[in-house]
Amino acid sequence: MSGASKPSFMALALAEAERAGERGEVPVGAVVVESGTGSVLASAGNRVEELRDPTAHAEMLVLRAAAERQGAPRLTDCDLYVSLEPCAMCAAAISFARVRRLYFGASDPKGGGVEHGPRIFTQPTCHHRPEVYGGIDDARSPLINLSPIGYCHRPSCTARARPGDP
Ligand SMILES: [Zn+2]
Repeated sequence: MSGASKPSFMALALAEAERAGERGEVPVGAVVVESGTGSVLASAGNRVEELRDPTAHAEMLVLRAAAERQGAPRLTDCDLYVSLEPCAMCAAAISFARVRRLYFGASDPKGGGVEHGPRIFTQPTCHHRPEVYGGIDDARSPLINLSPIGYCHRPSCTARARPGDP
């Protein structure tokens, strides 16, 4: 993956989602980018099945890896790119990590926790709200329109998001 534009970071997240799908995971991918340098600190896809860890969502994995790499638990100068609207657990973790900006692809009315359901960042108990750029598939990113990957967190949706599908 070359270049440092936003589409390329989202493309990287989508590629991680595709690889997660190939591993039999729900196809969601995420990337943490240091905003100042544009360097990728971490990228991952879901590993829930592989690690037998219900919290091993792509976002959790990249937040942990990026924090370890930074040597600090807060990622104030970092942006997170996710192929799908994060769930409530991941949204809370994003807030705890003090992520600067959140970019996500498809909205997830069923499992999302940012623009749907608990809307974590709008809660009074949420003490850091990142700038959110969501639903990037809504005609703003042809890149994502081309790919059904990461459409839904639900395992039952994996079938319609198989790698290689148009
Ligand atoms: Zn999640």
